[in-house]
Amino acid sequence: MPDATSMKIIILDRDGVINEDSSAHIKSVEEWVPISGSLEAIASLHRAGFRVTVASNQSGLGRQLFDEFALANIHHKLCSMAEEAGGFVDGIFYCPHRPDDGCSCRKPGTGLLEQIEREYSCSLSNCYFVGDSLKDIQAARAYGLRPVLVRTGNGAQTEQQLLCSASSAVPVFDDLATAVEKLILLSND
Ligand SMILES: [Mg+2]
Ligand SMILES: [Zn+2]
Repeated sequence: MPDATSMKIIILDRDGVINEDSSAHIKSVEEWVPISGSLEAIASLHRAGFRVTVASNQSGLGRQLFDEFALANIHHKLCSMAEEAGGFVDGIFYCPHRPDDGCSCRKPGTGLLEQIEREYSCSLSNCYFVGDSLKDIQAARAYGLRPVLVRTGNGAQTEQQLLCSASSAVPVFDDLATAVEKLILLSND
C-alpha cells in the first residue's frame, strides 16, 4: 500500500472547520456558510499537491432533519465554491447514523477513515486530520493520523478540554487558513 505521505492526503472535518457550525445542524444549502479563508485554504492544499478529503458526522440524516438529496446539494455547493476558489475536494465521506445507532463510522469511530483507505487504496497513517472537536482528535489518534485542532466551530472549547486532560499536545491554529499555511510548510521539509 502506498502511504499517505507519498499520496499527500489530508482529511478535514466539515462543520466548524470548512463551514460555520450550528447546534441545530446544517440542513440546507442556505445554511451552509464557509468560514472565512477556508475555501482559499483548500485551494492552497490543492496547489501543494494534497488530495483534500472530508470526513464528517451527519447525524442529522439519521435524525431525519434533512435527507440525502439535501446533503448532496450542500456538498455540491461546498465542492463548487472550493473549485471557484481554485481548489478541489477529492471526496466527502460521512456517517449518516445517530449517536445511539452504535455504528463504527461515527467519529470518534474510525469507519470513515477505513472507507477512505479502501477508496484510495492507500494508508492514512501519519497524514493530517484537521478538526474542531474532540471526536476528530480521538478518531485521528485511534487510526494513526496526526490530529490538528482549529479554534473555529467547537475548537476553542475543545482546546480547553485538551488542556484539562493529560493527553499529549495537539497543534492548535486559529482557523483552517492558518493551519494550512503551516502544514504546507511542514510538508515541504
Ligand atoms: Mg466539526
Ligand atoms: Zn455511522
